[in-house]
Amino acid sequence: MTNVKLETTTRKRPELPLAELVHRTDISEDLMVIKIEPQNGRFEFKPGQYCTLGREGVERAYSIVSAPYEEELEIFVELVPDGGLTPKMWEMRVGDTMSIRPRAKGLFLLDEKVHHHFMLATVTGVAPFVSMIRQYLHDSRQGHKFYLLLGASYADELTYDEELSRLSQQHPDSIRFVPTVSRPAEARNSGWSGAKGRVNTIAEEYLNSFNPPQEDTRVYACGHPGMIAEVKDQVVPQGWKFVEERFWKE
Ligand SMILES: Cc1cc2nc3c(=O)[nH]c(=O)nc-3n(C[C@H](O)[C@H](O)[C@H](O)COP(=O)(O)OP(=O)(O)OC[C@H]3O[C@@H](n4cnc5c(N)ncnc54)[C@H](O)[C@@H]3O)c2cc1C
Repeated sequence: MTNVKLETTTRKRPELPLAELVHRTDISEDLMVIKIEPQNGRFEFKPGQYCTLGREGVERAYSIVSAPYEEELEIFVELVPDGGLTPKMWEMRVGDTMSIRPRAKGLFLLDEKVHHHFMLATVTGVAPFVSMIRQYLHDSRQGHKFYLLLGASYADELTYDEELSRLSQQHPDSIRFVPTVSRPAEARNSGWSGAKGRVNTIAEEYLNSFNPPQEDTRVYACGHPGMIAEVKDQVVPQGWKFVEERFWKE
């Protein structure tokens, strides 16, 4: 009989790479845009993918707003007051660090086999679409059309509306942008003259008015799971190809 010596070892989890907060813009009490710089060099990803960030061992997924050509990773975050990670993120100041998993993940990518991209987003759900459009324009590409509906309760939460409006004016043949607010009667939205209503209630109307060819179109929905479920129920039975990225479970 052989004498087998059993050894018990405590395996230490390998340290995750760190990313430094280099810029922070507070949009409202519960929304901020941060820029982070991974300390171990450039972070490779495709537009539409997400990274996994953490603090004190709590990790969550964040879609990347910036495009791969940009130096810093830009993230648009909503505070969940009782959440595990976002309250810790709200304490961060420039120079603080977060952990970042070394690899980007996700299959919510631009489907380049089709030429019409009907994109629906609620608040932070705009992130993957900004990344896709920035990279597309940076590469001076042509031949694709983007129709983006971005919804929020309040106009000041839309955040990327100025950039997207400007890009749609500069590229009217390839970008159509519709920002919408769901609480138009509230004082915080006074002066709002754009579209009104939740994304899920106006999506079909805009899909019909833009009227992209169904066989050459993909419908993308990102953000609030309720919006995604409702839009999916409307468009999938009509034959539209549909992809989604839900940020949380309801
Ligand atoms: C692929 C993917 C990409 C994501 N990208 C982003 C992003 O770009 N920006 C971003 O802010 N978040 C994004 N999220 C959500 C993010 O991962 C966290 O869940 C969120 O930041 C809350 O983290 P937390 O630890 O503070 O709360 P948690 O402890 O994770 O959540 C507490 C509770 O709040 C719910 N919840 C989570 N997020 C919200 C929300 N926004 N509104 C209401 N309830 C919520 C959870 O389901 C849970 O019940 C993404 C999620 C996924 C899966």
